[in-house]
Amino acid sequence: MTIEYEAVIGLEVHAQLLTESKAFSSSSTNFGDHPNSNTDPVTLGLPGTLPVLNEKLVQYSVKMGLATNCKIRNRCGFARKNYFYPDLPKGYQVSQHEDPICYDGYVEIELDGEKKRIGITRIHMEEDSGKSIHDLDVDTLLDFNRAGVPLIEIVSEPEIRSSKEAYQYLTQMKQILLYLGISTGNMEEGALRCDANVSVMPKGSTVFGTKTEVKNLNSFRNVEKAIEFEIARQIELIESGGKVIQETRMWDGSKNQTLPMRTKETARDYRYFPEPDLPLLNLSDEFIDNIKSQLPELPLARKYRFVEQYSIPEYDAGVLVEDKELADFYENACELLENKNSKTYKLVSNWVMTEVLRLRSENNTTISELNIPDFVIPEIVSLIENGDISGKIAKEIFPEAIKNNKSPKQIVDEKGLKQVSDTGLIDELAKKLVEENPDEVEKYKAGRTRVVGFFVGQIMKETKGKANPQIVTDTVKKYLDN
Ligand code: ADP
Ligand code: MG
Repeated sequence: MTIEYEAVIGLEVHAQLLTESKAFSSSSTNFGDHPNSNTDPVTLGLPGTLPVLNEKLVQYSVKMGLATNCKIRNRCGFARKNYFYPDLPKGYQVSQHEDPICYDGYVEIELDGEKKRIGITRIHMEEDSGKSIHDLDVDTLLDFNRAGVPLIEIVSEPEIRSSKEAYQYLTQMKQILLYLGISTGNMEEGALRCDANVSVMPKGSTVFGTKTEVKNLNSFRNVEKAIEFEIARQIELIESGGKVIQETRMWDGSKNQTLPMRTKETARDYRYFPEPDLPLLNLSDEFIDNIKSQLPELPLARKYRFVEQYSIPEYDAGVLVEDKELADFYENACELLENKNSKTYKLVSNWVMTEVLRLRSENNTTISELNIPDFVIPEIVSLIENGDISGKIAKEIFPEAIKNNKSPKQIVDEKGLKQVSDTGLIDELAKKLVEENPDEVEKYKAGRTRVVGFFVGQIMKETKGKANPQIVTDTVKKYLDN
């Protein structure tokens, strides 16, 4: 009998927070600055220095906690996590241990139209370590710019059951961080990091198997691939009579596999103890309520509202809310529409999802950096809706309207681009063409309906693309069916 297995996954996500200065000193947190230019005595752990807590670190952590339905601890403290590594100048990391600032929350994910809650065990504050650079052709180099950059670690419950769910969970995390404006969420730059804890057990079992923890996952795709690899490796190991051992493994992206790194440390190895240089935090309800009142609408809620309010498909709404700026852009365009109805809302959505997103990726920038004047898309949509221009012409005038900050209606007028909806002219052309092409008409009558395209094409050519394609098609069919 073959046993079916089920995977159990818990993710630990680290996010660098977008504060200007470090967690406990005034050095800049700017990414990509010259190595070791953002350091100071606190960052370097020089004797006699004392940390001063950055209030933004606390505010941002609470924000994330509230956005993920966590409880917020009014009174909590920092702890030292001791370990020796060259990029950790103090010999310990300031973190939190038994009293994380946020706990007991959840996020909602969606997979194949099904919603599922993934529990959040805790969110705690900590500082980043420096960076060891091993891959240059010299000895290891150390850059302390990153040392002391504020982080939150978000620990999920072991409630994720597949690599796809893990991917959705991470996507939600990143979107929430971006909506809150507290992290760049950039995985390639290391601003978002994810360790995946993976185990397998016989399907339906309630006893979890032994887990491994996979590190070095620097993209969403790698998280997915590493989890799949780990699940398959563990099942194979068990099936061949072996046993999974609890260890930390490394993802090797070049070989698409996980490799043993070290046996897992336990909390005891870190000799956690309360940080004596920082006082306990006392968060008033007022402080927390104030942050709560400033929370924006979150991506998933916004998606459902879009479906409801604009009657657009869930797919569209999902694409639009992925980027807060894009969603804002969409809503703003809808707001400025001449005629507000489900048809125009969908037209705006089509335009944003194709033309605007194409521009964004071609220019590799953000939506606001594209500088698309507010009126452009609403005007284009009303030109299309009224049958004044075809989609093709609309796409042609779009870049010009942006570049010259010019009204699409004005461009259409000035260039005489208005569609010919003059049924008399179209009628005349269609009649003439049908008469002149008896062979094509024969083919049509024999069932080759594609012939319609030939006639429509000819008329579009004669009218320099300005004829209303729908009217042309209808007229051509009228004569062909005669
Ligand atoms: P550790 O003591 O190794 O730090 P924790 O209990 O703190 O383990 O959990 C760390 C992460 O591992 C959490 O995200 C948790 O959900 C996940 N996890 C715990 N047990 C398992 C398991 N058996 N399989 C997969 N993930 C697990
Ligand atoms: Mg733990």
